[in-house]
Amino acid sequence: MTAISLGMPSVPTKLAERRKSRQIQVGSVAVGGDAPVSVQSMTTTRTSDIGATLQQIAELTASGCQIVRVACPTQDDADALATIARKSQIPVIADIHFQPKYVFAAIDAGCAAVRVNPGNIKQFDDKVKEIAQAAKDAGTPIRIGVNAGSLDARLLKKYGKATPEALVESALWEASLFEEHGFRDIKISVKHNDPVVMVNAYRQLAAQSDYPLHLGVTEAGPAFQGTIKSAVAFGALLAEGIGDTIRVSLSAPPAEEIKVGIQILEALNLRQRRLEIVSCPSCGRAQVDVYKLAEEVTAGLEGMEVPLRVAVMGCVVNGPGEAREADLGVASGNGKGQIFVKGEVIKTVPESKIVETLIDEAMKIAEQMERDGVASGEPQISVAG
Ligand code: SF4
Repeated sequence: MTAISLGMPSVPTKLAERRKSRQIQVGSVAVGGDAPVSVQSMTTTRTSDIGATLQQIAELTASGCQIVRVACPTQDDADALATIARKSQIPVIADIHFQPKYVFAAIDAGCAAVRVNPGNIKQFDDKVKEIAQAAKDAGTPIRIGVNAGSLDARLLKKYGKATPEALVESALWEASLFEEHGFRDIKISVKHNDPVVMVNAYRQLAAQSDYPLHLGVTEAGPAFQGTIKSAVAFGALLAEGIGDTIRVSLSAPPAEEIKVGIQILEALNLRQRRLEIVSCPSCGRAQVDVYKLAEEVTAGLEGMEVPLRVAVMGCVVNGPGEAREADLGVASGNGKGQIFVKGEVIKTVPESKIVETLIDEAMKIAEQMERDGVASGEPQISVAG
């Protein structure tokens, strides 16, 4: 049997040092400072429907969500918070608009944090002293969540629209009100649906404060558009070291947001990669159906947690090279596939056996990695044609 060399994955190269933000604690998850960038989402159920909300939180948790936010528009929702916060496996943030009384309810319910929107909480400024005191007593952080669609009327008048400057001024004004009462257990978001405005707003905010930042492109749209907008905007900021926790907003089931968020962090080496399929786009030289092969291999290895890189390539142009670089790969041609493991050809199989052979070999490598204690990190499979 061919010896398989399995080293620990090398330390990933990052694009920039993280901005030095202060650290806050959202339940069990540290946000800011040197804490890894966390991924969060928001439930779409009625919060007052405790069973449905906890079920969705369980699904989100299984998909890798680290912090979850729940809406709290009514008293029934506020009444449900204590049970949800207690039974959820991940920290629960209550999302409060319009009614300051629900901020107090969320703190009393034991939520891990409370999000307030200064643009639409009635008499918010007058309540800051009380909120700061209650949050401080309970050790509950506050997210100041400014949103272009609900910008404070005063700033909308001053700037004419939700410019980066307007979003930042709104956030820092509200933060200053809390600071007056000695409260700095804060994270901030300044969301806009235009990635260019959003990136500029976060850059300005990052330069003007040391609060941890929650990144989001608000109302990013359906899954395809929203994924691209979020990847572009988060990518630009995270590549500069800006951003401590992220929420991808999609008009799609929340677990999809988590998948996208995790992929963004993995792509930037801000999180160790798991399974990675290196597959070519195919072209007129392809000697195998690359799309089908890549899809079948991806499906066969779904859920794999170890850092395995698998190369699936359409022909001999780049196939053997990519297959050699990956942990596992196939270079296809003439109805056959050369299977590579750690750079060595271990066998040649007929095209009909490529998928099952790759999956078998991937399982063997994964088991070895688990025995060697390699955590989830940089998966690699290659198929070359
Ligand atoms: S590996 Fe071969 S089939 Fe795939 S894109 Fe490159 S040249 Fe085309």
